[in-house]
Amino acid sequence: MRRRAGVWGALLMLTLVTACSSRTLAAPTTPAPSTTSSPVAAGRGSSSPGLSIPAPSTIGPPEPSVLTSSRSVALAAAAARPLTGRVIVIDPGHNGRNGANPRAISRLVDIGNGRKACDSTGTQTTAGYPEHAFTWDVAVRLRAVLQARGAAVILSRPNDRGVGPCITERAAIGNRNHADVALSIHADGGPSTGRGFHVIAPARVGGNAPIVAPSRRLATTIRAAFARGTGEPYSTYTGGGKALTVRSDLGGLNLSRVPKVFVECANMRNRSDAARLADPAWRQRAAVSLADGIGTFLGVGQG
Ligand code: ZN
Repeated sequence: MRRRAGVWGALLMLTLVTACSSRTLAAPTTPAPSTTSSPVAAGRGSSSPGLSIPAPSTIGPPEPSVLTSSRSVALAAAAARPLTGRVIVIDPGHNGRNGANPRAISRLVDIGNGRKACDSTGTQTTAGYPEHAFTWDVAVRLRAVLQARGAAVILSRPNDRGVGPCITERAAIGNRNHADVALSIHADGGPSTGRGFHVIAPARVGGNAPIVAPSRRLATTIRAAFARGTGEPYSTYTGGGKALTVRSDLGGLNLSRVPKVFVECANMRNRSDAARLADPAWRQRAAVSLADGIGTFLGVGQG
């Protein structure tokens, strides 16, 4: 693990160890700062253009061949953009400046069944590839795939150079945009001897009951597509061999009112997994796989 200099070293190391799994994140004792940089606002993705059908060049009823051609173009375009009209929120875990702003991200927020740190730094590979950079890279790739398929895509942060947003805001972005699907992307900081991916679905907490069942189904479609598309094995260290866990300690799931899961794409602390995570070609496969899993959930039969 790379050590970082600075007064926040001890807190940072603690956060690095616990952040991604997040089950035992210690409550910090430092007071919340009086002025905290605002969490980044979500930008709405570009809207989908309408279908473009060539107009007949003559006045009057078009020739049958023109009609047939126009319909073929429209059908082909619809088939190529099956997610048109869908809104998908992608939440790349952590952020590039979280580590330098421990007071801001350690501020406690209400997650529906308790209080928890606003955000965390995430983990990293032994070689120093940070989780926030990985999640951002996959999120951008996934956005491109989903937009090419017609979806409106909203990211929970605009770049990898900021702080936060808090986990409460990450959930709120999906809610207020009435997302058809929200997906948090992470990579785990598990035991170095363990590898594989897993998906995390929400337990019933407070007002999220309506999304528990659909989120569970989303978890299974993403699990299937991710395993098939990336070749990554089911987690060997969590999820009971099913690559699926249900948790009540994640604010991003507790507070969601739209179908949402987390995907822990691999274990950054495992040598084999780390090599995959650092490979851009594998990250592209991961992004396509996640899009396929979302598409299956939405009934468009991608993948
Ligand atoms: Zn994480």
